[in-house]
Amino acid sequence: MRSEGRRAPDVTVRVLDPKVSADTVNGYLDTLADVVPAITDFFNPATTTRIRLVVDPGYTDGPAATGGGVITVSAAYARSHPRDLDVVTHEVTHLIQGYSPGTYADWWHWVEGVADYARYRFGRDNAAAGWSITHYERGSALTDGYRATARFLAWAVAVGGDGIVQDLDTTLRNGTYTDKFWAARTGDDIAALWSRYVRASVKGWRPV
Ligand SMILES: [Zn+2]
Repeated sequence: MRSEGRRAPDVTVRVLDPKVSADTVNGYLDTLADVVPAITDFFNPATTTRIRLVVDPGYTDGPAATGGGVITVSAAYARSHPRDLDVVTHEVTHLIQGYSPGTYADWWHWVEGVADYARYRFGRDNAAAGWSITHYERGSALTDGYRATARFLAWAVAVGGDGIVQDLDTTLRNGTYTDKFWAARTGDDIAALWSRYVRASVKGWRPV
Protein backbone atom coordinates (compact mmCIF):
# COMPACT_ATOMS: atom_id res chain seq x y z
CA MET A 1 0.00 0.00 0.00
CA ARG A 2 1.45 3.37 -0.96
CA SER A 3 1.05 6.49 1.05
CA GLU A 4 0.58 8.76 -1.96
CA GLY A 5 -1.92 11.49 -1.32
CA ARG A 6 -1.43 11.26 2.42
CA ARG A 7 1.04 13.10 4.59
CA ALA A 8 4.36 11.36 4.19
CA PRO A 9 6.50 11.59 7.31
CA ASP A 10 9.66 13.67 7.20
CA VAL A 11 12.31 11.17 8.30
CA THR A 12 16.00 11.80 8.86
CA VAL A 13 18.00 8.60 9.26
CA ARG A 14 21.52 8.02 10.60
CA VAL A 15 23.04 4.55 10.53
CA LEU A 16 26.05 4.37 12.86
CA ASP A 17 26.90 0.73 12.11
CA PRO A 18 27.95 -0.09 8.51
CA LYS A 19 27.14 -3.77 9.05
CA VAL A 20 23.40 -3.05 9.24
CA SER A 21 22.03 -3.89 5.80
CA ALA A 22 20.61 -1.20 3.54
CA ASP A 23 17.57 -3.46 3.00
CA THR A 24 16.78 -3.28 6.70
CA VAL A 25 17.18 0.50 6.87
CA ASN A 26 15.08 0.96 3.72
CA GLY A 27 12.54 -1.38 5.27
CA TYR A 28 12.28 0.90 8.31
CA LEU A 29 11.76 3.91 6.05
CA ASP A 30 9.12 2.14 3.91
CA THR A 31 7.37 0.99 7.07
CA LEU A 32 7.32 4.52 8.53
CA ALA A 33 6.02 5.98 5.25
CA ASP A 34 3.21 3.45 5.34
CA VAL A 35 2.18 3.45 9.00
CA VAL A 36 2.75 7.02 10.19
CA PRO A 37 -0.15 8.59 8.25
CA ALA A 38 -2.52 5.85 9.47
CA ILE A 39 -1.43 6.00 13.13
CA THR A 40 -1.41 9.80 13.10
CA ASP A 41 -4.92 9.94 11.65
CA PHE A 42 -6.15 7.39 14.16
CA PHE A 43 -4.69 8.86 17.35
CA ASN A 44 -3.41 12.39 17.01
CA PRO A 45 -3.87 14.22 13.71
CA ALA A 46 -2.38 17.39 15.23
CA THR A 47 1.00 15.80 15.83
CA THR A 48 4.10 16.54 13.83
CA THR A 49 5.48 13.80 11.61
CA ARG A 50 9.10 14.91 11.72
CA ILE A 51 11.07 11.86 12.80
CA ARG A 52 14.72 11.22 13.47
CA LEU A 53 15.76 7.57 13.24
CA VAL A 54 19.15 6.42 14.51
CA VAL A 55 20.46 2.87 14.16
CA ASP A 56 22.95 2.87 16.99
CA PRO A 57 25.54 0.23 18.02
CA GLY A 58 25.81 2.07 21.36
CA TYR A 59 22.19 1.35 22.30
CA THR A 60 22.06 -2.02 24.05
CA ASP A 61 19.17 -1.76 26.52
CA GLY A 62 16.69 -3.54 24.24
CA PRO A 63 15.51 -3.58 20.62
CA ALA A 64 14.70 0.13 20.44
CA ALA A 65 13.67 3.22 22.37
CA THR A 66 12.13 6.60 21.69
CA GLY A 67 12.67 9.95 23.35
CA GLY A 68 13.14 13.58 22.49
CA GLY A 69 11.76 13.09 18.99
CA VAL A 70 14.34 10.40 18.20
CA ILE A 71 13.73 6.72 17.53
CA THR A 72 16.83 4.71 18.39
CA VAL A 73 17.06 1.15 17.08
CA SER A 74 19.79 -1.09 18.46
CA ALA A 75 22.21 -1.93 15.65
CA ALA A 76 22.68 -5.40 17.16
CA TYR A 77 18.90 -5.90 17.05
CA ALA A 78 18.68 -4.61 13.48
CA ARG A 79 21.35 -7.10 12.41
CA SER A 80 19.89 -10.09 14.28
CA HIS A 81 16.21 -9.34 13.46
CA PRO A 82 16.30 -7.96 9.90
CA ARG A 83 12.67 -8.92 9.27
CA ASP A 84 11.30 -7.10 12.30
CA LEU A 85 10.67 -3.83 10.49
CA ASP A 86 7.59 -3.03 12.56
CA VAL A 87 9.79 -2.41 15.56
CA VAL A 88 9.63 1.17 14.27
CA THR A 89 5.82 1.03 14.18
CA HIS A 90 5.74 0.56 17.95
CA GLU A 91 8.37 3.24 18.48
CA VAL A 92 6.84 5.89 16.23
CA THR A 93 3.57 5.45 18.11
CA HIS A 94 5.35 6.86 21.16
CA LEU A 95 6.17 10.01 19.17
CA ILE A 96 2.55 10.31 18.05
CA GLN A 97 1.27 9.70 21.59
CA GLY A 98 3.20 12.74 22.81
CA TYR A 99 2.35 12.03 26.45
CA SER A 100 3.95 13.90 29.33
CA PRO A 101 6.78 12.31 31.32
CA GLY A 102 4.36 11.99 34.25
CA THR A 103 1.97 9.94 32.14
CA TYR A 104 4.80 7.61 31.14
CA ALA A 105 5.76 7.24 34.80
CA ASP A 106 2.23 6.72 36.15
CA TRP A 107 0.60 4.71 33.37
CA TRP A 108 3.48 2.84 31.78
CA HIS A 109 1.39 -0.24 30.97
CA TRP A 110 -1.10 1.81 28.93
CA VAL A 111 1.69 3.68 27.16
CA GLU A 112 3.29 0.43 26.01
CA GLY A 113 -0.06 -1.30 25.51
CA VAL A 114 -1.30 1.44 23.18
CA ALA A 115 1.98 1.31 21.22
CA ASP A 116 1.66 -2.44 20.74
CA TYR A 117 -2.04 -2.04 19.89
CA ALA A 118 -0.96 0.35 17.12
CA ARG A 119 1.59 -2.19 15.94
CA TYR A 120 -1.10 -4.91 15.95
CA ARG A 121 -3.59 -2.73 14.08
CA PHE A 122 -1.36 -0.83 11.66
CA GLY A 123 1.84 -2.89 11.45
CA ARG A 124 2.96 -3.51 7.90
CA ASP A 125 4.25 -7.07 8.22
CA ASN A 126 4.03 -8.35 11.78
CA ALA A 127 3.85 -11.92 10.49
CA ALA A 128 7.34 -11.65 8.97
CA ALA A 129 8.69 -10.95 12.43
CA GLY A 130 6.61 -13.69 14.05
CA TRP A 131 4.89 -10.97 16.09
CA SER A 132 1.24 -11.24 17.06
CA ILE A 133 -1.21 -10.80 19.95
CA THR A 134 -3.26 -13.85 18.98
CA HIS A 135 -2.09 -16.10 21.78
CA TYR A 136 -3.48 -15.55 25.29
CA GLU A 137 -0.86 -16.13 27.92
CA ARG A 138 -2.43 -17.51 31.10
CA GLY A 139 -1.43 -15.54 34.15
CA SER A 140 -0.75 -12.38 32.19
CA ALA A 141 -1.68 -9.14 33.92
CA LEU A 142 -3.08 -5.86 32.66
CA THR A 143 -0.03 -4.09 34.05
CA ASP A 144 2.38 -6.25 32.04
CA GLY A 145 2.15 -3.65 29.25
CA TYR A 146 3.17 -4.43 25.66
CA ARG A 147 1.31 -7.32 24.03
CA ALA A 148 -0.57 -8.37 27.17
CA THR A 149 -2.16 -4.93 27.49
CA ALA A 150 -2.57 -4.52 23.71
CA ARG A 151 -4.51 -7.78 23.59
CA PHE A 152 -6.87 -6.47 26.28
CA LEU A 153 -7.34 -3.29 24.25
CA ALA A 154 -8.24 -5.34 21.16
CA TRP A 155 -10.88 -7.12 23.25
CA ALA A 156 -12.15 -3.79 24.66
CA VAL A 157 -12.61 -2.53 21.10
CA ALA A 158 -14.37 -5.77 20.12
CA VAL A 159 -16.94 -5.43 22.94
CA GLY A 160 -17.01 -1.66 23.47
CA GLY A 161 -16.57 -0.09 20.07
CA ASP A 162 -13.83 1.32 17.98
CA GLY A 163 -13.45 4.68 19.71
CA ILE A 164 -12.37 3.29 23.05
CA VAL A 165 -8.63 3.13 22.36
CA GLN A 166 -8.70 6.60 20.82
CA ASP A 167 -10.51 7.97 23.89
CA LEU A 168 -7.99 6.26 26.15
CA ASP A 169 -5.16 7.81 24.15
CA THR A 170 -6.76 11.26 24.35
CA THR A 171 -7.15 11.14 28.14
CA LEU A 172 -3.56 9.94 28.51
CA ARG A 173 -2.34 12.81 26.32
CA ASN A 174 -4.49 15.33 28.22
CA GLY A 175 -3.05 14.07 31.50
CA THR A 176 -6.57 13.37 32.81
CA TYR A 177 -6.51 9.60 32.78
CA THR A 178 -7.49 7.61 35.86
CA ASP A 179 -8.88 4.06 35.98
CA LYS A 180 -12.34 5.66 36.38
CA PHE A 181 -12.14 6.09 32.60
CA TRP A 182 -13.24 2.50 32.16
CA ALA A 183 -16.31 2.64 34.39
CA ALA A 184 -17.38 5.91 32.77
CA ARG A 185 -16.82 4.52 29.31
CA THR A 186 -18.17 0.98 29.70
CA GLY A 187 -20.12 0.72 32.97
CA ASP A 188 -17.61 -1.81 34.34
CA ASP A 189 -14.57 -0.94 36.39
CA ILE A 190 -11.15 -1.98 35.16
CA ALA A 191 -10.88 -5.02 37.43
CA ALA A 192 -14.27 -6.32 36.27
CA LEU A 193 -13.33 -5.71 32.63
CA TRP A 194 -10.05 -7.56 33.02
CA SER A 195 -11.91 -10.50 34.59
CA ARG A 196 -14.38 -10.54 31.69
CA TYR A 197 -11.45 -10.40 29.26
CA VAL A 198 -9.68 -13.32 30.95
CA ARG A 199 -12.86 -15.42 30.93
CA ALA A 200 -13.44 -14.65 27.26
CA SER A 201 -9.83 -15.48 26.39
CA VAL A 202 -9.89 -18.78 28.30
CA LYS A 203 -13.06 -19.66 26.38
CA GLY A 204 -11.23 -19.04 23.13
CA TRP A 205 -11.69 -15.35 22.27
CA ARG A 206 -8.84 -14.09 20.12
CA PRO A 207 -8.27 -10.92 18.15
CA VAL A 208 -8.93 -11.15 14.43
ZN1 LIG B 1 7.48 1.20 23.81
